[in-house]
Amino acid sequence: MNAFNFQNKNLYAESVPVSDLMNLYGSPLYIYSKSQIEFNWKVFENSFGAHPHLICYAVKANSNLAVLNILANLGSGFDIVSLGELERVIASGGDPAKCVFSGVAKTENSIRKALEYGIYCFNVESEGELEQIESVASSLNVRASISIRVNPDVDAKTHPYISTGLTENKFGVSAEVALSMYKKASLSDYLDVCGLDYHIGSQITDQSPFIEALEKALDLIEELKSENIDLDHIDIGGGVGITYDQEKIISIEDYINRVISKVGSMKILAEPGRSIVGNAGIFVTKVEYLKQNDIKSFAIVDGAMNDLIRPALYSSYHEAVSIQEKSKGVTDSWDIVGPVCETSDFLAKDRELTLEKGDYIAILTAGAYGFVLSSNYNSRPRVPEVMVSEKSHSLVRKRETIESLFENETIFKDEVN
Ligand SMILES: *Cc1c(COP(=O)(O)O)cnc(C)c1O
Repeated sequence: MNAFNFQNKNLYAESVPVSDLMNLYGSPLYIYSKSQIEFNWKVFENSFGAHPHLICYAVKANSNLAVLNILANLGSGFDIVSLGELERVIASGGDPAKCVFSGVAKTENSIRKALEYGIYCFNVESEGELEQIESVASSLNVRASISIRVNPDVDAKTHPYISTGLTENKFGVSAEVALSMYKKASLSDYLDVCGLDYHIGSQITDQSPFIEALEKALDLIEELKSENIDLDHIDIGGGVGITYDQEKIISIEDYINRVISKVGSMKILAEPGRSIVGNAGIFVTKVEYLKQNDIKSFAIVDGAMNDLIRPALYSSYHEAVSIQEKSKGVTDSWDIVGPVCETSDFLAKDRELTLEKGDYIAILTAGAYGFVLSSNYNSRPRVPEVMVSEKSHSLVRKRETIESLFENETIFKDEVN
């Protein structure tokens, strides 16, 4: 399915013309499709079928309460990386008992809160963290469920900034270290050993690194069995790539079936982020000026790298389309650039489009790692987010105000006190 489609030369979000949304909510704007989010989640859900499983949506990909609420209503679990994300899940109606807590730097306070809320399990990333969790659990006199994040040392062949499963990356521990951590944890009065997890990177478009990581994890699980340590689940992480340009992507059904066939009866957790929300969102921005010189043509828009940083940060490609197919305007190969004072401030480069001042350009597949990575750089208020479902739509985050930009700041008074 594709929730963002052209009908009579106009881009629609489900059954609503994007131009209507721009007139109503202003520019720039993020627009999400409820049906697309549900559809994408169900691809995972249906692939698992009757096999015991829990889909833990990776909240960091898009943490808007409305997005989390849609997934909570489907019965989804969540992969969180901070106390803030856990509080968001709960505020959106999500179940803390279906949350796994990942991340290399969990603070004592976030561990305490997570234990009080009764999360499903901690994905532990170091020996120091295991000790910290044990100590907090003992102070609360509860048992903490733990999984150990193994770094399988496989090359996910993705952008180096989103590759996480190599020994040189900060994530997880080696199989040897994991083994000693499991032995230690299994003797603790305050730790319940429940699983093993890994996550090798993001935007992976080939099954082989996933399967290689799985096989290494299963070898370790066998070794643990011989030490009489039995796990309840294996967590295969996220990382499934999506199509931004021409990428050929893996079949999720095929991948999950292969995982099930190798894992046997053990419960499987998965942590998809991008593949749930990526193609369920677009970012729409207005052409302020067209500027051409001898060698370059720039479409200067009101959206910028502070709103959508993926092109600047990872040189990511996003498809860019005019929301109304038209013949009027200047046809050229445009660099779509924003107002931020950085040369890296571009959303797309060399795009053949017919444009004139005032047109709206939709940057497609912007639902994952889009709004969540936005900032106030250049004192730009963050843009609003709108959710669409068939013919209905509403604001799910309002546009920030100029005043809100400096409401936490004060002028320094150089006085002796
Ligand atoms: C970011 C992350 C995910 C989600 O990755 P996607 O590529 O968005 O599917 C899952 N698990 C962990 C531990 C992560 O850090």
